[in-house]
This record gives sequence, C-alpha cells and structure tokens, in this order.
Amino acid sequence: MSATLAELLGVVAPQWSVTVFESAAEVAGESSDAWNNAGTGHSALCELNYTPAGPDGRVDPAKAVTINEQFQQSRQFWSHLVREGLSGGSPKEFITPVPHIGFVTGQAGRAYMRARYDALAAQPLFADLEYTEDAAELAEWIPLMMAGRDRGQLVAATRSEAGTDVNFGALTRLMFDDAIERGVAVHTNQRVQDLDRETDGRWKVTVRDTVTGERRTVRTRFVFVGAGGGALPLLQRSGIREIRGFGGFPVSGKFLRTRSPELVGMHQAKVYGQAAVGAPPMSVPHLDLRLIDGDRSLLFGPYAGFSPRFLKAGKLWDLPASVRPTNLGSMLGAGAANIPLTNYLVRELLQSRDARHRTLTDFVPTAEAHDWDLITAGQRVQVIKRDPATGRGVLQFGTELIVGGDGSIGGLLGASPGASTAVSAMLTLLERAFPHRIPAWRSALTDAIPSYGRLLSDDPILLGQVRAHTMQTLELTG
Ligand SMILES: Cc1cc2nc3c(=O)[nH]c(=O)nc-3n(C[C@H](O)[C@H](O)[C@H](O)COP(=O)(O)OP(=O)(O)OC[C@H]3O[C@@H](n4cnc5c(N)ncnc54)[C@H](O)[C@@H]3O)c2cc1C
Repeated sequence: MSATLAELLGVVAPQWSVTVFESAAEVAGESSDAWNNAGTGHSALCELNYTPAGPDGRVDPAKAVTINEQFQQSRQFWSHLVREGLSGGSPKEFITPVPHIGFVTGQAGRAYMRARYDALAAQPLFADLEYTEDAAELAEWIPLMMAGRDRGQLVAATRSEAGTDVNFGALTRLMFDDAIERGVAVHTNQRVQDLDRETDGRWKVTVRDTVTGERRTVRTRFVFVGAGGGALPLLQRSGIREIRGFGGFPVSGKFLRTRSPELVGMHQAKVYGQAAVGAPPMSVPHLDLRLIDGDRSLLFGPYAGFSPRFLKAGKLWDLPASVRPTNLGSMLGAGAANIPLTNYLVRELLQSRDARHRTLTDFVPTAEAHDWDLITAGQRVQVIKRDPATGRGVLQFGTELIVGGDGSIGGLLGASPGASTAVSAMLTLLERAFPHRIPAWRSALTDAIPSYGRLLSDDPILLGQVRAHTMQTLELTG
C-alpha cells in the first residue's frame, strides 16, 4: 500500500518530500511477500465469495464488477509504471497470465455456477468467461484435479484466460526502487512508535531504530499508516476519533505447497472452490499455480491458524493490547456474533495432518502427502467495526480506509481483496485526504490510469482499449 501511494504521489505531486519508515530489515517481507499471500490478481473471475446467490438462487454481479473494475485500475497503473521504466520494462518479474477457474461439485453447486455464469457473462468485464459441466472438457482445463475423480460426481466450472498470478513482493520492491530513484527516502529497521498531533496541525512521528535503539522524531503535514497488521495500534496511538470503535482479529494462513514438476505440469491455473457451510470467505479453498522468481509451484489452502500477533514477527500481546475502552464493546459484540468463525478456527486449529490431506484430496483426488509441505503465510488482521445501526461490533472480511485529523492522516485496516486493489484503495485515500487537489491532479491521474473516474463496465470502447494496452504492456498475452 505504501509503495503504491509513493508511486501515485510521484505522478500527482512529484515535488513533495516523501519518507517511508519500515520496521523490518527489508521492505515487502510481511503480507506482501510472495509466499505470504496467494498472489491472485483478485478480479472476481473465479472467487465465488464475491458472487453469493440470493434466496431465489439468482446471483447479483455488482460486487464482482466492482472488484474487477478495481483490478483494472491496478493493471493500468502497473502498465504506466512499466512504460516509465519500472523493472527495466520487464513485467514478467511480477505478473504472469494464469487462467482463473471457479470449480464446484454436486447438484446445488452446479445450479449456483450456472446462475453465476448467467449473471457475469452479461457483463462486459466478464465477456470472455467460459462455462462447462463436461468432465472431459474439465480434464483438459484442470487435469490434476480431474485425475482419479469419481466419474459419477457432478462438476461445473468457469474459466477466464484474463487471470493473473502476481508476485506482490517483487512488485513492492520494484515500486520502492523506482520511488527511491525519484527522491523518496526509504528507511529500513525504523519502527514508528508514536504519532502526536502538534498545535500547528502537523504530525510528530516518533521512530526507533531497531538495531541501535536510537529514537528520533520527524514532523510532517500528512501521514499514511501503511503498516498492514501494524496499522491498528498506530492509528490508535494517533488518538484520532475516526479509529474509535475499530478492533482487529488476527487469523494466520497456512498453505500446502508442492514443487513436484509432474504435479505442477498438470495444473496450469488458479482454481477457486466454495467455502464450507458456515466458514468465512477467507477460507475459500483454492489450488494455485504460483510463479515466483522463475520457479513454478502449486499452493493449496488456506488453512487457518490463530496467533494473537498482528504481524508475522509481531508480539504475543498485540491482540490484548489493542483492546481499548473505545473498542471493547465492538470486540465483545463481534466475538458473541461470530460463533461460526470461532467454531471454524477451532476446527482448523485441531486439524491433523491427515485431515488437512483429506481436504486437499477433495481438490486433487490422487494427491500423496509426501509431495506437499505445510508453509505458514501471512497474518490477516480482520477488521472489527461498530455497526452504526445496532451499535454492536461486526467482523468484516474486506479492507477499511481510515482518514482522520481533517485529512492529515490516513491508514488502511484489513486485508482482502488486498494487494490486488491497492491502487484503488490509494486513489480513494488521495480523494478523501486531498479533495481540493483532485481537480488539479485529475489529468495526470487519467494519463496514468485512463479509466480513473469512469466505469469500464459502462464504456466498452475504453474497456477494449485498456484491455489491449495493458495486455501488451504487461505481456499478458500468454
Ligand atoms: C494468507 C494470505 C493470502 C492472501 N492472498 C492474497 C491474494 O491472493 N491476492 C491479494 O491481492 N491479496 C492477498 N492477501 C492480502 C495481501 O497480502 C495484503 O492485503 C497486502 O499484502 C497488504 O499490504 P500492506 O502494504 O497493507 O501490508 P504489508 O505488506 O504487511 O506491509 C506493511 C509493512 O509495514 C511494516 N510495519 C508494520 N508496523 C510498522 C511500524 N510500527 N513501523 C514501521 N513499519 C511497520 C511491516 O513490517 C510491513 O513491511 C493475502 C493475505 C494473506 C495473509
């Protein structure tokens, strides 16, 4: 998020002085690191949680269209950066075309998939979606998943060739390298400890060197708290009223990974299934081809775990220390209202190696345990928010942009759809923190992101241009 914001500021306000403080020894080692997330360029092509069926079985495409529009903004901005020289003009370092497939089994699954396809195929952004119920065709799309599958099982799937795998770690490092060349200062091993508003409206940022222990302060007119899981405690320390009532609940992700060339060779897609009944959206099982630093592997998961840490390298007291008088009600309310999540986490935590393997065999019937290793991915700090209607706390699975202090401070909570929609999130931050500057910035933003302020779903000509252009610049033609 911070790297994206630094790059956007480079477009609209290149003369501004921007400084980044990173507590770790390297940037992009937390959630954005390639192995700490699934690398799916989330555009709702295959993630069934963005298209739930209503009580009448119909599917509303609205949420999927919004996510796809947001991802198109990311594609356009990344294309702009590549044209300007990011990664020496070689996008393969961070983005690769990988078909996105949604897959279901059973009669009910098939009925849902058909309704979803009907709803999405009518949308210009999803015009290339293909649908099949034919096991023989699926054996061509996803041979690894169809091998050894019960012939009597009903199956259905959609496929989009517009899908991508993104190495968000590589992208973040490239964006910071680019920003540094333009004069942005990036300091590592520097933990931001405190944020205080001065009487002149500026923020005093207290930073501690994690190696020497030395402290220093920096004064600034605007702060963005792009600290991932570390954002909630820092926004709480800032004392802004907009953070009151917010809490966080950390859930860690684990994946099974195989590097077996034979298995990887049989699975050239990202395939998302349906979450189990009562399980939260982040638990949607998926089997992903990953392309990281020239290596190909498959990831299956996620399996959830619980740790009270807000960052992988966080502290055991992160969760209890985040409970304040101002969010205690939300935290307790969210706990009481989320018994299914609690049950799901307990089930996941108690899951044995054999039980994990059984879940994998729903996807890969012929899977053998010795081919797969368990890896721990990043922490997601799910947002807990006070519902203004009921006054009770609710657990959210998306992201929440907080802007406070009269637009002088912003921060991002939550994790999903996350890195894929960082450009859209940071554009919204600019609009909310600097509304009076947007008219002057609009032309530069539109040069970088032609669909800025417009909807591609309403503009087939622009959609065609943007698609062709980003496919060519990002080398997504397969
Ligand atoms: C298991 C899992 C799977 C996911 N899969 C996907 C996916 O397929 N597609 C997708 O788009 N998104 C996915 N996400 C979400 C995505 O990874 C995140 O939304 C995104 O990486 C968050 O970026 P960020 O910049 O907000 O946070 P981060 O990448 O975590 O960066 C925050 C940085 O702030 C630093 N920091 C923290 N506290 C301080 C402090 N006090 N002072 C200084 N520095 C600090 C941290 O060290 C870190 O480097 C997934 C996440 C998880 C956990």
